[in-house]
Amino acid sequence: MKLERLVKPYYDALEEGRVLARRCLECGAIEFPPHYACNTCGYHATEWVELSGHGWLKTVMLPANTTADSRLSSSGPYAFGEVEFDEGVTTNVVIYGINRKKRKILREKIANGEKVGVHKRIVDLGGYKGLHFELDEGE
Ligand SMILES: [Zn+2]
Repeated sequence: MKLERLVKPYYDALEEGRVLARRCLECGAIEFPPHYACNTCGYHATEWVELSGHGWLKTVMLPANTTADSRLSSSGPYAFGEVEFDEGVTTNVVIYGINRKKRKILREKIANGEKVGVHKRIVDLGGYKGLHFELDEGE
């Protein structure tokens, strides 16, 4: 098992604006970030699958210092959070468009059980692409 073989298709797809994950051939669980083996049932074989790139914000947290990472802050205010993809897998990401005031509103929505939609925003991080998110329109 070579890490590069798994990581390269993922980053190649990001260059094309697509988000890839692995799906278990046994139980159908989605693995993201991609893994060769299934973390849900332990089966050894998974296949590539493309994710919609849309999901739902589960938690939101501001960075300790918003100027900490200039590559991120140059794209406007951002926060960290947990996003659950439409496909059901949860991951920790950067979400743009969230300042202190917005975070408070979003936290209240989430606490009230309202869904907050987010979608992929693929960002150049200096030689490679990173998968970040931004709020859906109207959120
Ligand atoms: Zn499985």
